[in-house]
Amino acid sequence: MAVRAIRCGTLFDGTGADPVRNAVVVVRDGRIASVGTAAPPGAATLDLGDRFVMPGLVDCHSHASIVPGLGDQLGQLCRGPVPQALAATRNLRLDLAAGTTTMRIMGEEHFVDVELRDAIEAGTIIGPRLLIACRGLAANNGHGRALASYDGVDEVRRGARENLRRGANHVKIFVTGGVSSPGTTPTSSAYTREEIRAAVEEADRVGTYAAAHAHGGPGLRLAVQEGVGTIEHAALADDEDIALMIERRVWLICTFAIFMHPNGIEQGDGQRPAIMDKMRWARRVVAETFPRHLASGVRFACGTDSVHGAMPFELQTLVRLGVSPREALLAGTRRGAEACRVDKDVGTLEPGKRADLIAIDGDPLKDMAAMERVSLVMKDGVTCGREER
Ligand SMILES: [Zn+2]
Repeated sequence: MAVRAIRCGTLFDGTGADPVRNAVVVVRDGRIASVGTAAPPGAATLDLGDRFVMPGLVDCHSHASIVPGLGDQLGQLCRGPVPQALAATRNLRLDLAAGTTTMRIMGEEHFVDVELRDAIEAGTIIGPRLLIACRGLAANNGHGRALASYDGVDEVRRGARENLRRGANHVKIFVTGGVSSPGTTPTSSAYTREEIRAAVEEADRVGTYAAAHAHGGPGLRLAVQEGVGTIEHAALADDEDIALMIERRVWLICTFAIFMHPNGIEQGDGQRPAIMDKMRWARRVVAETFPRHLASGVRFACGTDSVHGAMPFELQTLVRLGVSPREALLAGTRRGAEACRVDKDVGTLEPGKRADLIAIDGDPLKDMAAMERVSLVMKDGVTCGREER
């Protein structure tokens, strides 16, 4: 691929630096060669002089094959691999078009995420670059159980090892119940300390980490004490839970869309009054506690949890909860890359990083709703969307 110079009306590079007017990003072989003000002679130019340019978004928590608005998410995971792959093809295209260039997948059955990651890398289908968990580790009577459960230290180890052998990038373990599923407690642990430790050890040993589904309370604290790298959701976390996360430098992965967006669970299982009541309750708790949590110094990033294309909603929700627009954009880019441990490669627009960037009509630093107007997405230097106008 030849050298390409991208003229940016405003460049937000994701490093935390102030935005720069009329910057030029030079891309060579899918990577960023330089960021400055001049284009190298003879380089083809992509003119985004009327747009806001920033790093591609990092969605830290999703599931490729699920659409929450269809209801029965675990039932969707239990379908055969073909319907799941077909659904994922549509879902991942939506995610990419909305600006997500890197996405962490937090549990699929049949190892469809391995096939999807490879198909995207090969250019067979389009979608964000995927980081995958393969099968989520869930207890027999716990939340998140799809086709199999893993009980006892040995089964947890075997499950983690099989996922890692098949190509998982990280290990996902469901520690507490969910806020929208019946029959499990959202703050107590389905797993023992020893089982959680086994998942963490297996991940550690191959140089990666475990991510824990946990909403708060004793389950969340057990996962943090045993060394998980990220806590997923944490919708019911209290100040003590967050203080422990800060102490252990564990990432909080916020997932607002799934229980707040009208296309989330509300459109699916939320049609059952008992589920909708639980979600309204979770919304009230989050509205009360998250302004404090997000200002506490805990490291946070965000994910859509399968509400495909909803990263702009996540970032707008952060702002509604008191996060500054700049910090919200960093949560969606650089911090997401750090949480997923791919910040050497993505998350900022700096020389050597992958050329993953998005162009927006409007200025999200002034109005985060502009994130709904992503008009160009570039991944590895290749664009989809409008270049000309
Ligand atoms: Zn999830």
